[in-house]
Amino acid sequence: MSARGASLFVRGARSFASVAGAAHERSTPAFLDVRIVDGRIEAVGPNLERGELELLDADGLCVIPGLVDVHVHFRDPGLEHVEGWDHGSAGALHGGVTSVVEVQNNAPLTTTRALLEERIEHVRRRSRVDFGCLANLVEASLPELAAMAPLTPAFKCFLGGSTGVGGQADEGKLRELFQAAARAGRMIVAHCEDETTLQRDKARLVDSDPHATVAVHHLARSSEAELRSIETAIELARESGALLHVFHVSSQVGADAVARARRSGQWVRASTAPHFLLLSNEDAPRLGNLLKVNPSVKTPGDALGLCAALSDGAVDAIGTDHAPHPLEFKQRAYAKAPSGMPSVDLLWPLTFELVRRGWLDAECALASVTWRAAESVRLLRKGRLARGFDGDLVLFDPDERRTVRGAALPSRSKWSAYEGLELHGWPRLVVRRGEIAWRNGAPTSLAGGRPLELEPPQPARVG
Ligand SMILES: [Zn+2]
Repeated sequence: MSARGASLFVRGARSFASVAGAAHERSTPAFLDVRIVDGRIEAVGPNLERGELELLDADGLCVIPGLVDVHVHFRDPGLEHVEGWDHGSAGALHGGVTSVVEVQNNAPLTTTRALLEERIEHVRRRSRVDFGCLANLVEASLPELAAMAPLTPAFKCFLGGSTGVGGQADEGKLRELFQAAARAGRMIVAHCEDETTLQRDKARLVDSDPHATVAVHHLARSSEAELRSIETAIELARESGALLHVFHVSSQVGADAVARARRSGQWVRASTAPHFLLLSNEDAPRLGNLLKVNPSVKTPGDALGLCAALSDGAVDAIGTDHAPHPLEFKQRAYAKAPSGMPSVDLLWPLTFELVRRGWLDAECALASVTWRAAESVRLLRKGRLARGFDGDLVLFDPDERRTVRGAALPSRSKWSAYEGLELHGWPRLVVRRGEIAWRNGAPTSLAGGRPLELEPPQPARVG
C-alpha cells in the first residue's frame, strides 16, 4: 500500500442511477467497474481493464461514493466513555461514511495550534475514517487562528449556547470573531440560535414550569431564534468577508434566510440533519427526551420546507450532528436531559429512506451526503466516483431491509430515535482510499483514517 492508500479493482457494481432512477431505467441496470490505484480513483465505467489490481467482486451490489458527514461529535479526547473515535468511526462506516468533520464541544476545546496538533495525532491513531478536526472560534482562540488555519477545515462558532458550550450574544464580540476568522482565511461553521431569544423563551416556557416536557422544546428553541441568528451570522460574514456554513438548519424560515443570502451572491453554505427531515415536534410524546436536540426539531411543515430547500439548492448537505449521550442521561427530566442524538451509524439508510418516500429525488439525496457535502466544507477529492478523487465507496443492496435496533449499532449510546423503523440499503462493504474498511457488519481494522486534505487558507481582505 502506498502512503496515499491501497489499490483495488471493483467489478460489476450497479450504478445508483439505475437503481433509484425512473422506471424505464430500472429495467436496464448499468454496471460499473472502479479502478483505484494508490488510494485514488483512476477510472470508473463499464468493462474496465483489471490489470494486476486486487479484485473485489461487487456481485451486483449498488455503488455510491463514500459519504461525507459534515458534523459529528465523538467526544474524544475528554469524554471517551460517552463515544470515542473507536466506536464513533466504526459507527460512521456502518452508516457508509468515510469522511467526518468533527466538532469538539467538550473540554478541552481546540483553541490553540498545540491543542489542535495534539488532537489530530490523537485522532489519527484511533479513527477508521478520514477526518477533519474543527477549531473553536471563541475569544481564547483569537491569537491562534492564523496558526490553526492550515490544519482545520473551519472554525466553529456557537452563536447560541448548546450542550457543553455557551453561546455568544454580544454582537460586538461576534463581529471581532468573524473578522479574525476572515483574516485567518478559514470558513466559519456556525451553530445559529439567537442567545437572547433562547434565554427569553427558556425563562418563559421552561424555568417557570416544573412540569415542562420536550413538547415545548421547539418553542423554547424557536424558529424565530434560528432566523435571527442566521441573519446575524450572514450579515457579519458579509461585512467581514468570511465564508460561512450554517450548520443544522432546522426551520423553513432559516433555510429561506440562507436562500436570500445566496441569491444576493454571498458565499454561504448550509446543512441540515436527518432528524429535521424525518422527525417533527409531533414525535415528542412518542420519543420523549430522545427528541431533545439543539436546534430543536420543528414542525412537519418545516421538514417539508427543508426537503424543498435541499432540492432547490438553498441547503447543500445532510450532516448527522451525531451527538451521543448515555440513555440514563436522556431519561432525566426534560430541563436536565442533555441535547443531542446519535445517527452517524444510519446516515445512508436514513438518506435512502428520503428517496424511497419520494421526499427527495435520488440525485439530490445522494449529493447531499457526498459531493455537495464535501464542497460545503471545502474538502478536496471527496464525494465523487470520478478520476482523481479518493477511492472511497460504499456497496449496498437497495432491497435489503432491516429494522433499526439502537442496541445493535456501533455507537456507544445504544439507543436510536429511529428505533423500530424499517430502513433499506444498509451498507454491506465500505472502501476507504482503496482499502476495505467495513465488511460483514464489522470494521476491518483499528484505525487507518487520515486528516482530510484541505485547500490552503485564503485570507479575506478586511477593511
Ligand atoms: Zn453539533
